[in-house]
Amino acid sequence: MLLTISTTYQPATDLGYLLHKNPARLQSVEITGGQAHVFYPEATAERCTAALLLDLDPVGLVRGRGNGGQDGFTLEQYVNDRPYVASSFLSVALSKAFGTAMNGTCKDRPTLPAQPLPLVAKVAVVSAPGPDWPRRLFEPLGYAVEVETTLLDPTMPEWGNSSYYTLTLRHEAIRLSELLTHLYVLLPVLDNDKHYYIDQQEAEKLLHRGGDWLPQHPERGFITRRYLRYLAGIVNPTLARLLEGDELNDPADETPPPDPLSKKEGAPDDSARSISGAPSFLERGLAPEGSREVNAEGDRRLSLHDQRLQQVAHEIYQLAPKRVLDLGCGEGKLLRLLLRQPKIEYILGMDVSHQALSRAAQRLHLDEMPPRQRTRIDLIQGSLLYRDDRLAGFDAAALVEVIEHLDENRLAALEAVVFGQARPAHVFVTSPNADYNQLFEKLNAGEFRHDDHRFEWSRAEFAAWAAGLAERHGYQVRLVGMGEEVEGVGAPSQMAVFVLSD
Ligand code: SAH
Repeated sequence: MLLTISTTYQPATDLGYLLHKNPARLQSVEITGGQAHVFYPEATAERCTAALLLDLDPVGLVRGRGNGGQDGFTLEQYVNDRPYVASSFLSVALSKAFGTAMNGTCKDRPTLPAQPLPLVAKVAVVSAPGPDWPRRLFEPLGYAVEVETTLLDPTMPEWGNSSYYTLTLRHEAIRLSELLTHLYVLLPVLDNDKHYYIDQQEAEKLLHRGGDWLPQHPERGFITRRYLRYLAGIVNPTLARLLEGDELNDPADETPPPDPLSKKEGAPDDSARSISGAPSFLERGLAPEGSREVNAEGDRRLSLHDQRLQQVAHEIYQLAPKRVLDLGCGEGKLLRLLLRQPKIEYILGMDVSHQALSRAAQRLHLDEMPPRQRTRIDLIQGSLLYRDDRLAGFDAAALVEVIEHLDENRLAALEAVVFGQARPAHVFVTSPNADYNQLFEKLNAGEFRHDDHRFEWSRAEFAAWAAGLAERHGYQVRLVGMGEEVEGVGAPSQMAVFVLSD
């Protein structure tokens, strides 16, 4: 089993620092049933390839298994695909040989782990339920996926293709730690056979390694079930914990379809309550102390929120703005999407909550950001209810799920600050659509989607507010439904897009 990882990042030999493995030396680590060797078939400033060769001993495997609980000799114990296929053995080898890199640490080049690099990983071979599965697992994570099939037996073409594939994954810009983590989780999922006993610890591993990206993955149900070998007692609570999302961020570019396991039967795909009755963000103690305006994000529902953020980010990209404001930026999910657009020169995130801001700084890895990237973004603490000169001179501003966290009678103050004083050319305001709430089975009439919401407006109320505001401040306004429209009640969320008319 051979895995190679190549980069053309300059100098490419920095890959050696990142992997903590010197390109000049062959290094080996012991793993159950064999050895993993790390070496570099090429290491120049232009291109560097690290190889991980897994050398499993079928006899050693049988011994390592304590005979697998079987007595006597069976041929399959000794003659099987385990030595050749990327499997849980490879994941163990990855964490043993490249654990520090997978954790995103690099003593000699401390800023490098945060740097997205052009990376190509090639795995020979993976076993998969079909050739489309590698694509379904890796494409949503931004990889270009190539799957090479092989004949079962080249002398017997009529037997067709084998279920073993050579897999090439290319990514234009990804952190090495992310690539290693994706391989660590997904290769055993493709293979669907684990060489060790699965227990709760395995679920913790999945939450730890997958928390950042798995909740947004369209195949998260499949991945979780296979990773945990269909152990019902473990799979469902793990999925629920993933979706409650302490680690929800970095949505993939496409909004995943709802996973049937992520919601209760018949409930629309919205609101944390419909997923698992999860404690709200607030209840988990993340809400900052102090004023009633100081709120934490309420709607933890997975795909709608990500969808909203992506829709807003997409609308903002279309404008090709140079300077963008994220007002009430919370933990910085939108900031993260905006940073990916190199044409945006400067992004300012503001929030009243110090706690939200420090979490945003952490999630965006501000401390480790390369200096040039670091100059593109600032986070500031401030309230949208008070005039603030720092908000002047921006081309676009977003307020994603912020207004409903303010008392309705404070909105005039917000309006004066954002539309009267800061006056960005474009403003995107999103808020829940109360008309849609009747579809939430757990929400009683008159209740809000989150404890911290001060109001939730119907489409008519939102439209009236937006139209009045636009008129008062010289903006044009357009209203957009966010999420899937349902006849009679509209989409779960709504957005007003304001464009300065003068
Ligand atoms: N826009 C983010 C967070 C939404 S939650 C997202 O979509 O993920 C609402 C955010 O508004 C919280 O982070 C809260 O701290 C912030 N907020 C509440 N009142 C505020 C005020 N007066 N000024 C600035 N931010 C405020």
